[in-house]
Amino acid sequence: MSETLWEVYALKYSERNSRTRFDSFLFDPHHNVAHDMDYFVWVLRSGDEIILVDTGYDAGEAKQRGRPILRSQTEALAALSITPDQIKHVIITHLHYDHAGCLHEFPEARFYLHPDEMAYATGPCMCEDVLRMPFTGAHICEAVSALYSGRLEFTNSDHKIADGVTTHRTGGHSRGLQVVRVKTGAGWMCLASDASHYYENYLTRRPFPIVVDLQDMFSGFDTIQALASKPELVIPGHDPLVGQIFPAYGRSGFVWRLDAGPEKALPQF
Ligand SMILES: [Zn+2]
Ligand SMILES: [Zn+2]
Repeated sequence: MSETLWEVYALKYSERNSRTRFDSFLFDPHHNVAHDMDYFVWVLRSGDEIILVDTGYDAGEAKQRGRPILRSQTEALAALSITPDQIKHVIITHLHYDHAGCLHEFPEARFYLHPDEMAYATGPCMCEDVLRMPFTGAHICEAVSALYSGRLEFTNSDHKIADGVTTHRTGGHSRGLQVVRVKTGAGWMCLASDASHYYENYLTRRPFPIVVDLQDMFSGFDTIQALASKPELVIPGHDPLVGQIFPAYGRSGFVWRLDAGPEKALPQF
């Protein structure tokens, strides 16, 4: 039984607000309604131990994709008085550009990735434009370089990263997508990343349109709920609601503290 409790922070580094529900939910009847998206990385901290979950993307990628960032990861982490060289452990939930785009900014880190994700991102599916779209070749090369320099550890489906922190493969949105379970003062929390972009995806079982395996996505909805003590402690990957129901941390306006639990209730969907 784990005794270590972790602080958990969501750091927002980008947003995209020219979207509609068509972009967020398969077969949605209100497809023209505006639907905003936030982009986060997450920090787990317990004493001197720090684990970063995902790395976001940088200014170069932002320019290439026409998707500007609000701040670099270095700037985001500075709000927690953390410098990139203090980061010794980075869990990569999956290799999409917005989650694995800055591996080079963490020279001291060991990376944790599910082998299905590496196989998928370097395999025959990447010959298809549609499947390759959320990936960037240079990011995948960085992950391969980390592997060849002994800095990448492959996870299994129930992998212990530290006391009170495990990863769990769900697949669905990407072949080797893994989520993070972490023990907090509010109970077990599940950082779902893109296993559920929004609370609404998993609570109403409406899949996000970027999907490799719909069956895995639905079973992933079950997994993330089973890993968390209550629904609010499943943290979706891109939902602006996170910043509305959890308390702000500090004055930056882009950091929220998650481990004490939400201060507001989720809306009814
Ligand atoms: Zn993704
Ligand atoms: Zn994403």
